[in-house]
Amino acid sequence: MMSFADFHRRSIADRDGFWAEQARLIDWHRPFDTVCEYSKPPFANWFVGGQTNLCHNAVDRHVATRPDQNALIFVSTETNEERTYSFRQLHDEVQAMAAVLLSLGVMRGDRVLIYMPMIPEAAFAMLACARIGAIHSVVFGGFASGSLASRIDDAQPTVVVSADAGSRSGKVVAYKPLLDEAIRLAAYKPSKVLLVDRGLASMQLEPGRDESYAALREKHLGAQVPCTWLESTEVSYTLYTSGTTGKPKGVQRDTGGYAVALAASMKHIFMGEPGETYFSTSDIGWVVGHSYIVYGPLIAGMATIMYEGLPIRPDAGIWWSLVEKYKVTSMFSAPTAVRVLKKQDPKYLKQHDLSSLKALFLAGEPLDETTAKWIADGLGKPIIDNYWQTETGWPILTIANGVERAPSKFGSPGVPMYGYDVKLIDETTGQELRGAGHKGVVVIEGPLPPGCMQTVWRDDERFVKTYWSTVPGRLVYSTFDWGIRDEDGYYFILGRTDDVINVAGHRLGTREIEESISSHPNVAEVAVVGVADSLKGQVAMAFVVAKDAGGLTDDLARLRLEGEIMKTVDQQLGAVARPARVHIVNVLPKTRSGKLLRRAIQAVCERRDPGDLTTIEDPTALAQIQALVAGPA
Ligand code: AMP
Repeated sequence: MMSFADFHRRSIADRDGFWAEQARLIDWHRPFDTVCEYSKPPFANWFVGGQTNLCHNAVDRHVATRPDQNALIFVSTETNEERTYSFRQLHDEVQAMAAVLLSLGVMRGDRVLIYMPMIPEAAFAMLACARIGAIHSVVFGGFASGSLASRIDDAQPTVVVSADAGSRSGKVVAYKPLLDEAIRLAAYKPSKVLLVDRGLASMQLEPGRDESYAALREKHLGAQVPCTWLESTEVSYTLYTSGTTGKPKGVQRDTGGYAVALAASMKHIFMGEPGETYFSTSDIGWVVGHSYIVYGPLIAGMATIMYEGLPIRPDAGIWWSLVEKYKVTSMFSAPTAVRVLKKQDPKYLKQHDLSSLKALFLAGEPLDETTAKWIADGLGKPIIDNYWQTETGWPILTIANGVERAPSKFGSPGVPMYGYDVKLIDETTGQELRGAGHKGVVVIEGPLPPGCMQTVWRDDERFVKTYWSTVPGRLVYSTFDWGIRDEDGYYFILGRTDDVINVAGHRLGTREIEESISSHPNVAEVAVVGVADSLKGQVAMAFVVAKDAGGLTDDLARLRLEGEIMKTVDQQLGAVARPARVHIVNVLPKTRSGKLLRRAIQAVCERRDPGDLTTIEDPTALAQIQALVAGPA
């Protein structure tokens, strides 16, 4: 067995040789001529000249060898449904969905926006798009009309696939009214809306635009829709993510590079074998859902569990009962979910036979030591942290136990993965920080490995400006995370360098929330900061200066405004972005040149020293915030 250090070294020193070998893990319709074409940095093209298809690799090739094995296992503790699809059945459903999309006029390269709860049809739609060369853009079901409208305008989808409703904690969340409102708000109007009716909420179908999936499926079931062979560099999907500005970025992914990256990660990192079962508790609206609910496990020939529901309903043993029932071998979740479980009786970790489980992988936010230890002790299984981003599509830092078994260290996601030339850079000088113990910005030397974003959808300039221009004089990809490395080369992630916050593993831009709050007619100024929270990692806290401050004569008037602001965010962005608290203040802390002192606000909220305040214009501003956050919540 090769040591991981050698494996990694080779991936950088002999990049083409290394990835050509990994590329054998998938099927190619036509072999590639060039492994990595990097003549116009930072734009990398992987497996140029090759033709393949994600759906073929995820579904069709397994129909030949394991037709009756479980492929998709759907469990909803919201609607009490449980259904399994073998590879053959999945193949049929995906072809039916593909035929329906074709009948609605979807062509290769067209976008299909998927706004769906966690139901099998969402996965069918993604795979069907991949099959016919349409570009899917999944929007998280927790987002509301405003967020959805801006994504519709950016993606310009031919068809939107949606459903009547999702369900959370037994409460029906109707999707259709939110979608109708989003289409009304959007400048671009999709020509067709395809709707799955779960029978949870009534739907008004708009004649000429809205189509019932059940009716069309019936018509097209049994259709043979062959995979369209795509160039390796053709776009498979876009997925929106938050950054420093209010406008979300469409992270654009290719086809061949992504398929190879996922196949390699299933082997080297997640230790998944064909025939085994993978369970990721994420949502298809996030990158983890794309890579490790839908594509990764299926490409590896594994069954994948799609779970709709909470970790604690009907009780905190539900996930472990699924591990036992379906003999889950690899499980993937987020630290927040474990912290939710930690509030429950630990007996729930002990009630089920977990002997099939090789490891629990956690990602999406920092994994604190207490949480990691609690779950490691409770399950008696290895806990493997992995650090990555929507942009990269698969882990940047972790431990590749499939290559060489190595210890994890509490508090550290691990070491740079093969293909990633990770460095720490001094923020101001751009100098590389060698050795151990120096805090710097985590950056990656180009080219980014296969599977990472190709560019920002329809905005190459933004891709270069946002990600590759932050370090003076150097073309390196910035992760926008602070990091530090120890003597053994293990990295520790110390939080974001920008205004992105992480609430329960969900990445949110404080600017987006500020823009939404600003749309309230009585808001003059607003600052949103992320504040440490023991359950969710971080929560958003908003500080607002009212236009009609004189009208806020009593607590009731203030409370009313706070409530209205929360509602504004709920309606525009969705409950996921709702601040934990809105505080009305007289003035926001700014420098004399008018720059908002966000870090100082955050420090005060976290009861830390706000640092150097010599440039502050009005010291009472911070004092008021201090008094507010110290007072009764
Ligand atoms: P997302 O694009 O939503 O996956 O969010 C990516 C961001 O989440 C990263 O830039 C980090 O700030 C944070 N993150 C993800 N995984 C980890 C981890 N294992 N440890 C610490 N931070 C993480």
